[in-house]
Amino acid sequence: MTFGLGLIRGHLITLRRFVRTFLVGHGRTWTRRGGGHQKVDLWFGARTSGDEPIIAQDDRTEGLFTVEYPDERLPVFERSRVLPVLIYDADDGHIRCTSCHICAKVCPPQCIWITQARKSDGKPIALPSEFYVDMDVCMNCGLCAEYCPFDAIKMDQNFELSNYERHQSHVFTLQDLLVSSEYYERHHPDAYGSEDEVTERSKVAKKKAQRLAKASATPSEVEPRPV
Ligand code: SF4
Ligand code: SF4
Repeated sequence: MTFGLGLIRGHLITLRRFVRTFLVGHGRTWTRRGGGHQKVDLWFGARTSGDEPIIAQDDRTEGLFTVEYPDERLPVFERSRVLPVLIYDADDGHIRCTSCHICAKVCPPQCIWITQARKSDGKPIALPSEFYVDMDVCMNCGLCAEYCPFDAIKMDQNFELSNYERHQSHVFTLQDLLVSSEYYERHHPDAYGSEDEVTERSKVAKKKAQRLAKASATPSEVEPRPV
């Protein structure tokens, strides 16, 4: 008969954590100064950015759980959404955005502004010359990425966006927003390999080939490129 054993075990875990945290050296006994299972600090001296230990609290964690950020990190999951990024193809630097304005129209707080690129004769090109997202207004909903028909805008997980100025630098420009398709693949491996995205990429690649074939007949067209 195991009825109620899980409940008792849960209470014992809570009690043990309480004792380790508040009665035995305020959580600084034989465990490391933060949380996690390890007995000693995982890091010594400065770490290379992006190489910090990832720690997480679970039922083996003893005492007070503290993440020594930025020397340690909590896990960031693939589906977490912060700000949108614009994708360019890693093989040829082609920016996928066609300046169709759909993302700007569906964005609930209206924090996307796009200017379409034009040829020297004033005719529009299927590319943006300017693309802005106000990071202070963006509510991280991901609708822009959901609606984009060209697989060009995706939600990223990067949350380390603080700086010393709260006006101009919070409006991200086209160059701030651009990331390569390789970057997206590296940070979103499950989504990148999913059937939906594979199908979508193949459709977008066909549309791109058609556009480039058309553009090759008009040599005055100049594409903006990531720098
Ligand atoms: S990011 Fe997508 S939806 Fe937005 S303008 Fe570019 S192609 Fe259109
Ligand atoms: S994530 Fe939502 S709020 Fe932010 S730019 Fe996209 S649609 Fe707008």
